[in-house]
Amino acid sequence: MALPFDLLLQGCRLPDGRIADVGARAGLVAEIGTLAGRSAHRAVDCGGLLLTPGLVDAHIHLDKALLSDRTPSLEGTVAEALRVTGHAKRRFTVEDIRARARRALDLAVRAGTTAMRSHVEVDPIVGLKALEALLPLKREYAPAIDLQLCAFAQEGILQAPGTEALLARALESGADLVGGCPYNDTDAHAQIDIVFRLAREFDVDVDFHIDFFDEPEHMDVLYVAEQAVRWGWQGRVAVGHASELGALEPEELDRAAAILKDAGVGVIILPATDLYLMGRKDVRNVRRGLAPAKRLLAAGVTVAVATNNILNAFTPMGTGDLALMGYLMTAAAHMGTERDVADILAMLTEYPARMLRLPEHGLRVGARADLVLWETERAAEAVTTMAARRLVVKAGRLSIQHERTCTEFWRESS
Ligand SMILES: [Zn+2]
Repeated sequence: MALPFDLLLQGCRLPDGRIADVGARAGLVAEIGTLAGRSAHRAVDCGGLLLTPGLVDAHIHLDKALLSDRTPSLEGTVAEALRVTGHAKRRFTVEDIRARARRALDLAVRAGTTAMRSHVEVDPIVGLKALEALLPLKREYAPAIDLQLCAFAQEGILQAPGTEALLARALESGADLVGGCPYNDTDAHAQIDIVFRLAREFDVDVDFHIDFFDEPEHMDVLYVAEQAVRWGWQGRVAVGHASELGALEPEELDRAAAILKDAGVGVIILPATDLYLMGRKDVRNVRRGLAPAKRLLAAGVTVAVATNNILNAFTPMGTGDLALMGYLMTAAAHMGTERDVADILAMLTEYPARMLRLPEHGLRVGARADLVLWETERAAEAVTTMAARRLVVKAGRLSIQHERTCTEFWRESS
């Protein structure tokens, strides 16, 4: 007699279109198939709705989320965003950061995000305050989401003396990985060297904000790839934005993509911010400023799509729902075919899970039962309509249930 399931999801539509029951036990997907009549502590009739793996948001800033009321955007440039946010940061308190981070996490969890990597600013302005605010949230939110914290030098390292030591302290204190921002420093390569040195010293992964310009004037990502290979860090390095890749000539892009693939460097596209901040100097045919998802995927590069910012000077809109980033990609990256939309769903789930090194992520027997039930029967509509979420399951337990009502009074009036 088989052990009862902890949770049995009956009649789910799998992403490949099949209908199946999914049984979870001890936090894992135990069986997928026809499981009618099997005992379970809790069974849910899913009515043929779509079940996917949990969403994985590979790049967000919880510490500077929800700041729009304090940092109104007047110019809408990267430089302004850095300046006004740096200014707001001087008044951050641990309580304030934690309260905003909780609101942002709640939005993400309700929308089906079951794993997330947040950058945490570590610099002489804010010190370790943001890390102090966010570290306890890892445990507090563990029943709903796996949270990785990246100690991040937003203000530069060489141009902000003291930052390197603070990054080391952050890694000693529990930050999971280290990140830099070479475009905001006096010597990009020297900053990259420092970040890799810290990564080796603490044996952690690396995540850079990189090449966030309209023209391919920096391409520091190639130096990052070189260091990844040099130090054996393949598969442990991600880069966000990389909008300069989108400005390369096709042959140059093919060369760069091959280098990134061989170096195991993942690229994270941040469509809300990239669309908002790039192309600002274009007076006609305003460019989109996105790293070229389709060509990178075709070259075998791991590509994710992530939220980055919610309601601040870098991105004055946002909902915390990762599906919104996929929806944006269909139009902004010309990814509307059936195959493209499937790729987008993978860029919200499987590929970021690979980047965050979560090998147990997925909808298959033996994987962690982190799952989302959507109010649609078509996998494409998770992206193309941002279908509402019905249920979210974290490690085999129901973590979120949405119930919606809409009363159409107008129909009663004749
Ligand atoms: Zn970012």
